[in-house]
Amino acid sequence: MNDPSPDGSLTWENFLYVIDFLESSHERHISLLGGEPTLNPHFVDFVAYLIARQFHVSVFTSGIMSTPVLDDAWKHLRDVAPDQLSFVVNVNQPDISSDKETERLERFLELFGHHSSLGYNIYRPDFDLAVLFDYINRYGTRRHLRIGLAHPIPGEHNRCLASHELKHMAQRLMQFVPNLDQFHITIGFDCGMPLCLFSDEQLGILYRISQGNLHFNCGPAIDIGPDMTVWSCFPLSGFRRRSLYDFNSLQDIRQFYERLHKLVRQESGGVRLECDTCRHRESGLCEGGCIAHLVDRFHTEAPVRITEVYG
Ligand code: SF4
Repeated sequence: MNDPSPDGSLTWENFLYVIDFLESSHERHISLLGGEPTLNPHFVDFVAYLIARQFHVSVFTSGIMSTPVLDDAWKHLRDVAPDQLSFVVNVNQPDISSDKETERLERFLELFGHHSSLGYNIYRPDFDLAVLFDYINRYGTRRHLRIGLAHPIPGEHNRCLASHELKHMAQRLMQFVPNLDQFHITIGFDCGMPLCLFSDEQLGILYRISQGNLHFNCGPAIDIGPDMTVWSCFPLSGFRRRSLYDFNSLQDIRQFYERLHKLVRQESGGVRLECDTCRHRESGLCEGGCIAHLVDRFHTEAPVRITEVYG
């Protein structure tokens, strides 16, 4: 956010191409993410335009935005129905946020709390969800938490959970069940959560607090960058990127990356050695955790695998 580099932002011309592309693919939902999408100088106009074209829009944001952007968003977007525009506000631990960031986030939630649900990306096993409970109760956001895991970006040294830390993370997560129950908050997992981190009893509890919406999958999300390149999902943003112009529809892109995922999983089933022969993977209940762990692993070993699985 200190270096928004507006030269690299999505332009109107590219934005319109993407919207037409999605519409001709019969896709009516779009997520705007970044980086931080509200840094784009056209952010509010883009959203207003999408609403006018009858798209359902989810904005993934830190909620930390400058006063002019927030005022502009409030002026033009406050009357949009929450089922047409929603914000997923990814909240940081308070100890890594400055006072100014916290102040801006809280002002955003004061205004757009009713359009928002909160998300938390776990990047260390000793995390704390207390601030999220506080925000849900204070600002009237949806009573739902999106729980994501920070995964490795192959070839980079980003902050993320190592595979040996996953079990600890899962046990920590279960410690918050009494709070989730107390405040009537449901949770949903983002992709890449391995099923075997939890006991059968814990899976039962998770089924209840997710209202039956429990997934242990990892599929291509399909991201489109401002320069019209496409990739599978954020952790794989450097893996087998292609141009949007190479494809005729969103379905084509999805098929392309689904095939790549399949090839990677043929080389290695999942985050654990046991994934190769796991009955939950065979039955489709768990896909073996985030595929970025596998691509990252291939990166550091001798190149003995089929060429498609390398970035
Ligand atoms: S597929 Fe892998 S991660 Fe999933 S339950 Fe089986 S062993 Fe665990």
